Amino acid sequence: MMTIKSDIAVLGAGVNGLSTAYELCKRGKSVTLVDKGVMGAGASGSCDDMILLQSKKPGILLEMAFRSLELFKGLSTELPCDIEFETRGGTILIEDQAQLSVMEEFVASQRRSGLDVEIIGKDRLRQLQPHVSQHVIASTYSAADSQVNPMQLMKGYMLGAQAQGMRYISRAAPEEIAREGGHWLLRLSNGDSLEAGIVVNATGAYANSVCGLLGFELPIKPRKGQVLVTEQLPPLGETNVWSAQYIVSKLKPELTAASTGLAARYGLGFAFTGTHNGNYLIGSTREDAGFDKETKPDALELIAAQARRFFPVIAEAHVIRSFAGLRPSTFDGMPFLGEVPGHEGFFMAAGHEGDGIALAPITGRFIADLVCGTKPEFDTAPFRVERALKA
Ligand SMILES: Cc1cc2nc3c(=O)[nH]c(=O)nc-3n(C[C@H](O)[C@H](O)[C@H](O)COP(=O)(O)OP(=O)(O)OC[C@H]3O[C@@H](n4cnc5c(N)ncnc54)[C@H](O)[C@@H]3O)c2cc1C
Repeated sequence: MMTIKSDIAVLGAGVNGLSTAYELCKRGKSVTLVDKGVMGAGASGSCDDMILLQSKKPGILLEMAFRSLELFKGLSTELPCDIEFETRGGTILIEDQAQLSVMEEFVASQRRSGLDVEIIGKDRLRQLQPHVSQHVIASTYSAADSQVNPMQLMKGYMLGAQAQGMRYISRAAPEEIAREGGHWLLRLSNGDSLEAGIVVNATGAYANSVCGLLGFELPIKPRKGQVLVTEQLPPLGETNVWSAQYIVSKLKPELTAASTGLAARYGLGFAFTGTHNGNYLIGSTREDAGFDKETKPDALELIAAQARRFFPVIAEAHVIRSFAGLRPSTFDGMPFLGEVPGHEGFFMAAGHEGDGIALAPITGRFIADLVCGTKPEFDTAPFRVERALKA
C-alpha cells in the first residue's frame, strides 16, 4: 500500500480523460490517470469513428467541433502513433420529400455558421456512393467530415502523456474521496491512496459512481448503442454515410418517439463507416437501457436489415462481430465541463453523448485551461455544472 502524490488525478481512461491528462502533462503538471477497468473499457472502446460536423446544430458544439477538427490535424503528427485520422467527407441520405425539406433548412443554418455543406442530387450522390439504393432521392455532402480510430487515439494520448511522466493505474477505482488540508485524498480499491490538488471526473456514463462519493448526482445517464462490424471489404464508396433519420433521432428525439414498433423502441438510425482497415461499422441504436451492454439479436437484425435497405450489396458481406457501448447522455445534450460548486478543485469532464470522440481534443484543452486558471477558448456557461443544479 502506498500514497501517490500528483498535482492532478484524472478518473477515467476514455478519450476525454486521456485528452485531459495529455494536455495537463503538456503544461508541466504531474498527472495520475486512474481507470476502474482498462483504457477504452467505456464508450471510447465501443463506438464509431466519426468526427462529424454535419450532425451538429449551429451553435457552440458546432464551433467546438470545428476547433477539434483543427486540433486533430495537429494531433495526427504530434502523437507518437498513427491515429488513422482521415478526411473523407460525409453524406446524409435523404429518402423522401419530408426529410428533404427538414434537411434543406438544417443545411442552410449550418452554411450560415460557416460549414461547407450542400444538398446534392441523385447523380452526384451515385458518383460518391455507387452502391446506394435507388430509393434514396438526395443527400447532403460535406467535404469536412472526418474520422479517427478511437483506440489509436487513446493509445496516442496514453503514450504521449506517459512520455511526459503520467502515471496510469488500471483496474482501480476510488472508494472514498475527501478534501483534507487543501488537497483531495482518494482511497483506491487496490489499497493505494492518491493525493492530488485537483480531481477531474472523466468517467463518462459512469460519472455518478464518482459524484456519489461526494454526495451529489448529475443528470448523466447511459444511452446504449449497438453496432455490427463486417469483414474487411473493398471500399464501397468515397464518403462516410448517415441517414437523415439518424440526425432526426439525435437532434429531435421527440419525432422518433412519435413513431412506433421495434425500430422506434431501439431508437434506430443509420450510420455506415469504413474503417482504415476496411471493416465497415454499421449502426446503431439509441436506447435507455441502464448499464446493460449486451447486444440483442432482434436489434442486430434491425440494424442489418436497415443496412441492406440503404446498401443492398451489403447482403453479401459477413458480419464478424457486434458490440454495444454506453453514450454518456445529459438532460440538455451538453457535456458537463467545469468545477463542481461547493467542491473546490473537483472538475467534471463527462456527458458528451454521441460526440465524445469528435470533441475529445477540445475537451482536453478546455479542462486543462480551467484547471490551470487560463481562460478557455469557448464560453464556459453552457457547460457549467450549475445548470443541472438549477434544472
Ligand atoms: C455506438 C456508439 C457510437 C458512437 N459513435 C461516435 C462517433 O462516431 N463519433 C463521436 O464523436 N462519438 C461517438 N460516440 C460517443 C463516444 O463514444 C463517447 O461520447 C465517448 O467515447 C465518451 O468518452 P469518455 O472518455 O467521456 O467516456 P468513456 O469512454 O466511457 O470512458 C470512461 C472511463 O471511465 C472508467 N470508469 C468508470 N467508472 C470509473 C470509476 N469509478 N473510477 C475510475 N474510472 C472509471 C471506465 O472504465 C471508462 O474507461 C459513440 C458512442 C456509441 C456508444
